[in-house]
Amino acid sequence: MDHVAIIGGGFSGTLQAINLLRHDGPRATLIERQAVPGRGVAYSTAHPDHLLNVRAGNMSALPQDPEHFIRWLARRRPDLSGFVPRLVYGDYLAELLAEACAAAPDRLAIVHDEADDVALSSDGAVISLASGKRLSADLVILAPGNLPPHIPRPLDPAALPAGSFAAEPWSADVADGLGPDDTVLIVGSGLTMVDIALLLDARGFRGRMVALSRRGLAPRAHADAAIPSSLDVRPPPHAVALLRHVRDRSREVGWRSAVDELRPYTESLWQAASLPERERFLRHLRAWWDVHRHRIAPQVATRIEALRKEGRLDIVAGKLEAAEAHGDGTRVRYRPRGTIETATIDVRRIVNATGPQGNVERSEQPLIQRLLARGMIRPDPLRIGIDVTTQSEVIDARGNVQDRLLALGPMTRGTFWEIVAVPDIRRQTWSVARKLANAHWVGGEGL
Ligand SMILES: Cc1cc2nc3c(=O)[nH]c(=O)nc-3n(C[C@H](O)[C@H](O)[C@H](O)COP(=O)(O)OP(=O)(O)OC[C@H]3O[C@@H](n4cnc5c(N)ncnc54)[C@H](O)[C@@H]3O)c2cc1C
Repeated sequence: MDHVAIIGGGFSGTLQAINLLRHDGPRATLIERQAVPGRGVAYSTAHPDHLLNVRAGNMSALPQDPEHFIRWLARRRPDLSGFVPRLVYGDYLAELLAEACAAAPDRLAIVHDEADDVALSSDGAVISLASGKRLSADLVILAPGNLPPHIPRPLDPAALPAGSFAAEPWSADVADGLGPDDTVLIVGSGLTMVDIALLLDARGFRGRMVALSRRGLAPRAHADAAIPSSLDVRPPPHAVALLRHVRDRSREVGWRSAVDELRPYTESLWQAASLPERERFLRHLRAWWDVHRHRIAPQVATRIEALRKEGRLDIVAGKLEAAEAHGDGTRVRYRPRGTIETATIDVRRIVNATGPQGNVERSEQPLIQRLLARGMIRPDPLRIGIDVTTQSEVIDARGNVQDRLLALGPMTRGTFWEIVAVPDIRRQTWSVARKLANAHWVGGEGL
């Protein structure tokens, strides 16, 4: 195997390319539709107020060198530590990519284009690009990142006054045209909501924000210092038993440690659980898992708390029922959780912060639609991503494992579950690189 094409140059695709070089694997072409590769959604569109939600000490891009990011910070930004701005992490990734390109210009190419189809044959793959060009490779790795959020069902942006709906949550103009008497509805109350509230505040919005989600749960804060603890045995792979286990351990070691110490077991817990157990987890525990597992920096939590105390941010549990044009704004009706009544608020803007969606069948991305239509990919059984093996090989619609098509990153969560954050994706890209580098060596030896 000589040449691997990687579609998507966010964190996952970029790391995959760098790891292939580091393992002396096949040469790589990284295809990224954004003008600047290497940063992806998380580390490019952020505002300086948007901080990593993982401590710098756990953010090395290289699993075999856990201090790598800390050393980079000490060199480039000695003023920073702990939870650093995401934009700074983007600088780190961009520098890693530039170094890799400079060190091996004949082995890593970056193509600025959108891949909109892939055709596989027994001896390789051809990728069609939006520019009309084609690119051949021996193997293709899909690293498309999270799919954009879908628009919550009762919302019809076309029926609302212009400027009333912000589909792209991190857009720099999210606060444009808003006055101090306006209300903004943020649909969702997770990590994206936190970003939006900080962004609106940073852009000078002084009105009221209402974050609405089914349960009204917001991300919890990290402690100022991590308290390490560990488990000797894996807890049982059943949702109810797991909940009981975490509650018991919380009393002994605190809830943060009780959640964090599951991490070495999360993937195997997920894979050992039956499909009904995984469904049960998603239905009843996912929202709780997300807010306890994916925590925010203490200083971010302090700012969110201040916004709430000032009465500028309300986090409301309820179900969005309708949104209609009302004057030059929108009248929103929702049902507060646990009631049968309907509440009404008039808002100037609605921001979609429902978070990434994983259902490929609802995707509007041309590449995903085409691969799905031709049966080259299929949704995983829970419809939270692309179905892959534990080796990250794509499983097609007929259940065949594709040895020339792999997928990486958050869209493989149906198989790995814990594959969203840097510490997990860096391990995935590392093991894929090891495998492909070995194949490369074997091929090179003619064995
Ligand atoms: C707002 C936010 C904050 C986060 N903060 C943290 C954090 O603090 N710590 C942490 O550990 N994790 C964090 N994460 C988790 C994050 O998902 C991962 O760290 C990582 O960014 C995922 O990388 P990715 O490359 O898979 O996806 P993405 O970053 O979404 O990148 C995918 C890339 O593929 C490109 N692409 C897609 N389709 C095509 C195509 N057909 N052709 C060409 N290009 C294409 C896109 O343009 C994009 O650049 C955060 C995530 C988000 C969204």
